[in-house]
Amino acid sequence: MSSTRNAVIVTGIPGVGKTTVIDTAVAMVKEKHNEEVAVLNFGTAMLEVALERNLVKDRDEMRRLPTAVQREIQKLAGEAIAKRAESMRVIVDTHTLIQTPNGFLIGLPEWVARAISPKTIVLVEADSADIAKRRSDDPTRARDAQMVEEIETHQLMCRSAAVAAATLTGATVRIIKNRQGKVEEAARELYETLME
Ligand code: ATP
Ligand code: AMP
Ligand code: MG
Repeated sequence: MSSTRNAVIVTGIPGVGKTTVIDTAVAMVKEKHNEEVAVLNFGTAMLEVALERNLVKDRDEMRRLPTAVQREIQKLAGEAIAKRAESMRVIVDTHTLIQTPNGFLIGLPEWVARAISPKTIVLVEADSADIAKRRSDDPTRARDAQMVEEIETHQLMCRSAAVAAATLTGATVRIIKNRQGKVEEAARELYETLME
């Protein structure tokens, strides 16, 4: 476990707006304090390994790999990210629960959560119907289409998973609502957590 708490882990279901809110909050830190925050995207770290091994063609294929393979790549990415979080202020852009064909895979299992040892685990949430629309309107990604009720269940389960990871690490859990058209509002809350 790292001795300092430099990391904030930002989680939330696909299409809720994590990456958008993070980019906006990081720009606020830069503008107000002229400080850099490193953003480490867990999926990107996993994708580098998966591409090297010729396992997938894009990031949205990874959650359909056999779960044993996902876990192995997850471990490598988690170790690399934890190492960077030892020495600088970082945001980790990731998930607490990955929906696979064989059920939910825990995004922050004990060995990942303890290695990163975050100050706060942020859970970005939004209205389920808005999330369904954000997914279908975003041509840059191949996110899964889910019924609104399934999105609701997934979001509820993510609350439990965030609390479980916080129990292992002593992190706080902060729920941030990313309301439709209100990215700046959500980003301001993330900014407060970063600068706390
Ligand atoms: P993933 O986990 O799949 O990477 P994500 O949570 O990072 O997803 P984003 O890529 O940030 O999601 O956002 C998904 C889409 O929703 C994007 O097209 C983005 O522009 C849009 N979006 C994000 N936040 C809002 C908001 N508050 N209102 C309207 N659209 C939004
Ligand atoms: P993202 O761009 O955040 O959607 O991440 C792309 C993909 O990376 C996700 O759909 C998952 O397959 C994978 N991924 C991201 N974070 C984790 C994690 N903590 N554990 C396992 N897989 C992850
Ligand atoms: Mg993203």
